[in-house]
Amino acid sequence: MERHLRLTAVVTSVKPLGDIHKSVSLFSPELGLIYAKVYGGRKGKKSALAPLFSAGTFEVYHNPLKNEYSITEEDIFFLPQSINTDIQGTYTASYFCESSMRIKTDTPSEIYELLLSALKTLEEKPELRRKIIIDYSWKLLLLSGTAGDLSECPSCSKMMANDEIMYFSTSLMTPVCKNCSDTDAIILMPGSRRYLIYTQDMSFEDSLNVQLHETAQDRLVNTLLRWVNTFCRYPLKTISSGML
Ligand SMILES: [Zn+2]
Repeated sequence: MERHLRLTAVVTSVKPLGDIHKSVSLFSPELGLIYAKVYGGRKGKKSALAPLFSAGTFEVYHNPLKNEYSITEEDIFFLPQSINTDIQGTYTASYFCESSMRIKTDTPSEIYELLLSALKTLEEKPELRRKIIIDYSWKLLLLSGTAGDLSECPSCSKMMANDEIMYFSTSLMTPVCKNCSDTDAIILMPGSRRYLIYTQDMSFEDSLNVQLHETAQDRLVNTLLRWVNTFCRYPLKTISSGML
């Protein structure tokens, strides 16, 4: 049976499919990640369909025999302008899309909301780019279930002192005490740890308003990107690029 669906989604990637068509990935609150074709999407009127990083409501046709989706119509409600004019902005938006596509989740609606909020904030406040990376990455790790309680070591239950550095366990994919760590490539400084604990129950928008010193911010970006990379098992292209 052929089916028509109406999906709200963010366009997380766009790739050419031969000379004429294109393939896009959509992240929707109901279905999570799906791939859809835009027939004739590389030429003429159809090339405007499903622009990268946009969000909208898409009319999607599902062919169950081929298990294939294709986009027929759309109503875009978020179309970024400034993100694409800046190389760092483009890489950052790509990072949000790439990382959210990698997270296995039973509740795609929460990832969708976070992804859309991060893209919208990046579009409106590009000067907060590094802070958005921090708050987005922390919320993503919390949603993925990998983030433990940062006040104690999840491996040996040792309570962490206020000024203690946390190290990392690549097998547990979470910060641990020095004794339980198996790498020193990722460390979590005490100030960064306090920031993460302080903002962990806040919404993404509220945590953006919490100030973080510039040096601490740079350190925390590095820590969180390495943490996300470890969690995703093989490195993300956008993190490896060094452009974030
Ligand atoms: Zn420990």
